[in-house]
Amino acid sequence: MFGLIGHSSSFRDARNTARDLGFEDLAEGELDLWCSAPPQLVESFEVTSSTGKTIEGTYIDSCFVPEMLSRFKTATRKVQNAMELAQKRGINITALGGFTSIIFENFNLAKFQQIRSTLLQWDRFTTGNTHTAWVICRQVEQNAPRLGIDLKKAKVAVVGATGDIGSAVCRWMANKTGVGELLLVARQQQRLEDLREELGGGRILTLEQALPEADVVVWVASLPQTLEIDSNSLRKPCLMIDGGYPKNLDSKVMSEHVTVLKGGIVEFARDIGWQMMTVADMANPRRQLFACFAEAMLLEFEGIHTNFSWGRNNITLEAMEQIGMASIRHGFSALGIDPKTLNPQPLAA
Ligand code: NDP
Repeated sequence: MFGLIGHSSSFRDARNTARDLGFEDLAEGELDLWCSAPPQLVESFEVTSSTGKTIEGTYIDSCFVPEMLSRFKTATRKVQNAMELAQKRGINITALGGFTSIIFENFNLAKFQQIRSTLLQWDRFTTGNTHTAWVICRQVEQNAPRLGIDLKKAKVAVVGATGDIGSAVCRWMANKTGVGELLLVARQQQRLEDLREELGGGRILTLEQALPEADVVVWVASLPQTLEIDSNSLRKPCLMIDGGYPKNLDSKVMSEHVTVLKGGIVEFARDIGWQMMTVADMANPRRQLFACFAEAMLLEFEGIHTNFSWGRNNITLEAMEQIGMASIRHGFSALGIDPKTLNPQPLAA
C-alpha cells in the first residue's frame, strides 16, 4: 500500500473541505483549533497501472495549512503526526506532499525520529522530488519546441537552482537536454558557486538580470506573493514552468507571448476513484495529480519500498531516468501545451 500526505492550500479551503467531509467542528473552528487537530485519514482507493497491476492507496490530510508556516512547533507536529499515522497504518511508502517535505527538510526533522511510542522508519517515506524534477524537465523538453524554442541554443533560467528540485533540473538540463546556456538564480552566493562548479558551467544572475534573457524559465522556489514581473521585458516567445507551490505565476504574467505551464503535474491514463484532487483544484481531478504523489504510486507499482527521494541535493540522473521510465510505463504523462491550440492544458477549473 502507498500513502499520500497532503494539506489544503489555505485555511479557508481547509474549512470548506472539512464542511464537505462532514467535520463540522473543524469547519467552524478557528486557526487555534486547527493547530491542535490530529491528522485525518480521509480516503482509501485503488489505482490500476497501464501494465494492469492494481495497488491500494490512502490519503492522509495533515491538517496543516500554509498559515501555520510561521509556527515552528505546530508545523513540525503536523508533519510528524501525519508520518506516524501513515507508519502505524502499515503503509509501505508515503509521499510528503506540498509544504510537508519542505517543513521536514528545512526544520531538519530527520533529527527527531521518535514520535511518542513510534520510531519513524525513513525508508517508508519519500519527498517525491526525483519524479517532480524529471516531470519538469520533460515539460521543458516537450513544450519548448512547440513554441519554436530550440533548446540547444536556448537560455534556460532556473529560479531556485540550488534547491533539491532545482539542482536536479540543472543537472538534467546540462547533461541530458544539452541546453544552450543555464542561468542560475537563487539568493545564497556560495551555494550558487558550488553548483556552477559541479555543473561545469552556467551563469549566476539575479532574477531581474535573468528574466529578460531567458527563453525558458523554470520556477522551483516558493516566491513572495508580492513578486512582480514586468511582462514587457520578457523574451518573445518565452516558456515558463511554474514548479513552485502555490502555483500562482499565471496571475503575475500578462503577455500573449509568454506561456505559463503548471509544473510538476502529471495526468494518469485512467480515472482514479478518489476525491482528494478536487481539493487541490485540478481541472481533471480524477486523473491529474502532483508528480511527488505519483512517485509514491510508482514506487509501490515497482515494489521499490525505500526513501527514493530523501535529503537535499541527492537526486542523481540515474534515479531521474529510472523514475521517468517507470512513469511512462505505468501511464503517467506530464501536463503540457495542446500542440493544436498552443494553450496550456487546464489545471484549475
Ligand atoms: P528547496 O528548499 O530545496 O529549494 C528552494 C530553492 O529556492 C533554493 O535554491 C533557494 O535558494 C531558492 N529560493 C528561495 N527563495 C528564493 C527567492 N526569493 N529568490 C530566489 N531563489 C529563492 O525546495 P525544493 O527544491 O524541495 O522545492 C522547490 C519548490 O517546488 C517549492 O516551492 C515546493 O513547494 C515546490 N514543489 C512542487 C511540487 C509539485 O508541484 N509537484 C512537489 C514538490 C515541491 P536560496 O535560499 O539561496 O535563495
